[in-house]
Amino acid sequence: TLDPDSMFKSGFLAEVYKERPVKPVMTRFPPEPNGFLHIGHAKAIAVNFGFAKYHGGHCYLRFDDTNPEAEEEIYFTAIESMVRWLGFDPYKITYSSDNFDRLYETAEKLITLGKAYVCHCGDDDLKLQRGGEKGASPRFRCAHADQSVEENIKKFRGMRDGEYKPREAFLRMKQDITDGNPQMWDLAAYRVLDKPHHRTGSKWVIYPTYDFTHCLCDAFEGITHSLCTTEFFLSRTSYEWLNDTVEVEHKPMQREYGRLSISGAVLSKRKLKELVDKKYVRGWDDPRLYTLIAVRRRGIPPAAILEFVSELGVTTTNSIIQSARFEQTIRRYLERTVPRLMLVLDPVPVVIEDAGEFEGTELTVPFSPKNPAMGDHKIKFTKTVYIDRSDFREVDSKEFYRLAPGKSVGLLGAYVIKATSFTKNPETGKVTEIRAVLDNEGKKPKTFIQWVSADSTSRKCEVRIHHQLFLSENPQAAEGGYLSDINPNSEEVYPDAIVESGFDEAKRRAPWPEAAGETDGTHSGPESVRFQAMRVGYFAMDSDSTEDKIVLNRIVSLKEDKEK
Ligand code: ATP
Ligand code: MG
Ligand code: MG
Repeated sequence: TLDPDSMFKSGFLAEVYKERPVKPVMTRFPPEPNGFLHIGHAKAIAVNFGFAKYHGGHCYLRFDDTNPEAEEEIYFTAIESMVRWLGFDPYKITYSSDNFDRLYETAEKLITLGKAYVCHCGDDDLKLQRGGEKGASPRFRCAHADQSVEENIKKFRGMRDGEYKPREAFLRMKQDITDGNPQMWDLAAYRVLDKPHHRTGSKWVIYPTYDFTHCLCDAFEGITHSLCTTEFFLSRTSYEWLNDTVEVEHKPMQREYGRLSISGAVLSKRKLKELVDKKYVRGWDDPRLYTLIAVRRRGIPPAAILEFVSELGVTTTNSIIQSARFEQTIRRYLERTVPRLMLVLDPVPVVIEDAGEFEGTELTVPFSPKNPAMGDHKIKFTKTVYIDRSDFREVDSKEFYRLAPGKSVGLLGAYVIKATSFTKNPETGKVTEIRAVLDNEGKKPKTFIQWVSADSTSRKCEVRIHHQLFLSENPQAAEGGYLSDINPNSEEVYPDAIVESGFDEAKRRAPWPEAAGETDGTHSGPESVRFQAMRVGYFAMDSDSTEDKIVLNRIVSLKEDKEK
């Protein structure tokens, strides 16, 4: 969960509060509904919702839906569900478009104040007016800036009433072109866009820009601290200029914090779409991606993401965090919150010839060696057990401490066995069966390996192990583009894995609140069924699972993964 000490008690956000120590604090998380949220947005959500909560205030989820060209219905629900999944409850869900009437009136007011004009210039003209190619020539205003208030009102109403095609006219704020800040160079406030809007239908053919909308919506909603990322630093001036000029009743204060990204993660919508469309990944929620729906599907707990954000803290610098560091935090979180089970990825049967009296014994195995509150479960010992292919060698060697002919190994939570012989498939050369005997009287073996019993209580499953989707840490910079940097082995599939019988209880008790010590977030999906597969890694159930088939994703490896 969020750590208030590192997030709000000191540091950047504490200073922001000190600048304006008001109550109640009102904030907003304002995504544009034009794509799925990604890991960077988790920080924005934590900052805005967390800051309000810490100060006993409220945070709106505001859909910044002023561009009907890019926005789609599916994103609204996806965004809201991710906010809730992270454990936050919007005070209200609002839409910038709720304010279209009020924004329009404010635009007329701005015109009446002599602070906006309808302009007919094209992009080339604007560039010249703003100082030309290198911004080196003097800035100037076009003749439209001299139109009378009456003429501007008439033209603006004309824009509203459909008398202009897109780009034939737009409303510009009359700011201060002598200011060194480009955000003061008579920015666009309204443009003609002949597109129906998902909420207001065809009522409008003009739509307000971000620069016009955001500060006013913040003011209308009584936002006290408007927290955004540093690319908006220069926008602070235009933000304040507009709110001051139209004399809004509640003046919000904009402050900027650094963006978060993760190395090797592609977050741009266009690139993600290409990866999905060209089937490099299974979908927008593929566990190799860093959209929040992907991170959820992979099994990363929401509370672990908040822990990660807390650890990084909030400053004004943008940071690119190594994926290994992200995984380290997730691993640490899982280590104390999920039960342990045995999973065999690539099973080979071992027949224990003298299993005799032990056959059918119910072994009691704790779900966690560290946390007794998690309880224990029973595993039935069978004459045939499955072990992982990698734990057996046909030819023994001195530095090998697992199973080989004549060599003993321990079965976790059970007995010691010694291999006697094995059989191979002559065509594939693969070992098909190992024969063994019990060896409980001998020396304690160096290694204990995972195993599952060969009976109906063990469950077959498909296991997917993901590696980084890209070979380099900065695929954007790869020669030949990011698609040429794709790791061809980023998904390993084990179709015949077997998980022990304890899985059923692990599933029933998920998400193990007695271990997590918390219950925030939504924990109803398959991905909340998480466990540590001893000696293998951390796993969660995939959404491809059905009544008859278990599919598992590796969340993270047990130790830092050196290979890619
Ligand atoms: P993207 O282009 O990656 O979708 P965006 O800036 O368009 O990002 P919005 O949908 O407008 O994203 O985002 C809503 C809020 O999330 C904004 O306040 C934005 O500053 C913040 N945000 C977006 N990306 C990040 C990030 N990487 N780190 C922290 N905050 C972010
Ligand atoms: Mg966005
Ligand atoms: Mg944006």
